[in-house]
Amino acid sequence: MAERLKTTKDISKFMADYYYELDEASKSGKRKIAWCTSVGPAEILRSLGFLTYFPETHAAMLGTSRMAANLISSANAIGYSPDICSYLTADIGSCLQGLTPLTKAFPGIEGVPRADVLVYNTNQCRDVQDWFSWHAKRLNAPLLGLETHRNIAKVSAAHVSSIAAQMENMVEPLEHIAGRKLDLDELKNRVALTRQCSDLWEKCLQTAAATPSPLTFFDATTIMGPAVAGRGTRAAIDVYRLLLEELNERIEKGEGAIEGEERHRLYWDGMPVWGRLSMHSKLFAGLGASVIASTYCSSWIFNAMDPARPFESMAKAYTELFIVRSDDYKEKYIREKLEFFKCDGIIYHDSKTCPNNSNCRYGMPQRLQLETGIPALIINGDLNDLRLISDEQTKTNVEAFIEQLEEAKA
Ligand code: SF4
Repeated sequence: MAERLKTTKDISKFMADYYYELDEASKSGKRKIAWCTSVGPAEILRSLGFLTYFPETHAAMLGTSRMAANLISSANAIGYSPDICSYLTADIGSCLQGLTPLTKAFPGIEGVPRADVLVYNTNQCRDVQDWFSWHAKRLNAPLLGLETHRNIAKVSAAHVSSIAAQMENMVEPLEHIAGRKLDLDELKNRVALTRQCSDLWEKCLQTAAATPSPLTFFDATTIMGPAVAGRGTRAAIDVYRLLLEELNERIEKGEGAIEGEERHRLYWDGMPVWGRLSMHSKLFAGLGASVIASTYCSSWIFNAMDPARPFESMAKAYTELFIVRSDDYKEKYIREKLEFFKCDGIIYHDSKTCPNNSNCRYGMPQRLQLETGIPALIINGDLNDLRLISDEQTKTNVEAFIEQLEEAKA
């Protein structure tokens, strides 16, 4: 494999600082902690002084550490179906069994932080609501939520104003929990910081358009922590400045993210298979294929954020996300990405327990292939539940797909 990005070390330090700060606050009780969904209104929470914990990043760690499969059954036993989100079932299982990868990754941390409040946004799916409700009952903590419109073709003023109003209605109960009033200037500052972080993250991901690409989707999944957990903070901006510099250096030197010739450039749609990142990375790279871009990693790009209009712009940014949109919009979005990143193939991950982020079940791959002539492969699997994955089948299908791309190239 090609050399690891040096900035990975800085990003690991960022994540360690992030978790140790939460842990210290959790133990000392000196700071309030809010649990937030990964595309929830973190800026409001931060501007009220909350430290912000994202259960989805924890659930992804349960996947990468391959602990998830042994934990999911505990959630199944209390009534959460094996067919629903395996972030939810793994995370609830982790809580029921008292096991977390945080203890190994960050010595001294004994568990996930306590919660003073839990805040969700259904823009990604309804599962987050059930997931957060379970924790809220267990922790006897208040639960607040935004109910987002779904399947949106065009984000209208009515969509934005209804979500902005829901956000504004959250402020009073949050102020009560935080024990302080919202400072509008601080909210604007947090929105500005998120926008800067998002712009840098977008530029980092866009470097993958270079040939050879300096970045793969698999690398991006391991360095996206600050874009999710650190938005609204200065530290996330600092670390992505370093990353962008390093990626641009790679481009100047003509260094690709995979060793050897980059014969094929692929786009990934859907969730990663967290417990198989390294295996998939090696599988594709070994066949001369670089998986260079994805819808998933781009989900934390928020171009609409505007400090001059904090509530409206947050409402717009969190509603115009890919996952919230209609199939027509999604097809147009992917078509543009295939062109921008100069891809000659597309992989759809049909993630068994996440229909919300699997876009291959209603004819989209076939329609897009007809329109673009770019071949598609559907991989059946799951984000966290490795019992739903056949490694042999994946390998055989990927090899056959790359062979097909080779023939087309010849
Ligand atoms: S989008 Fe998918 S993976 Fe994420 S919380 Fe919802 S169901 Fe789970």
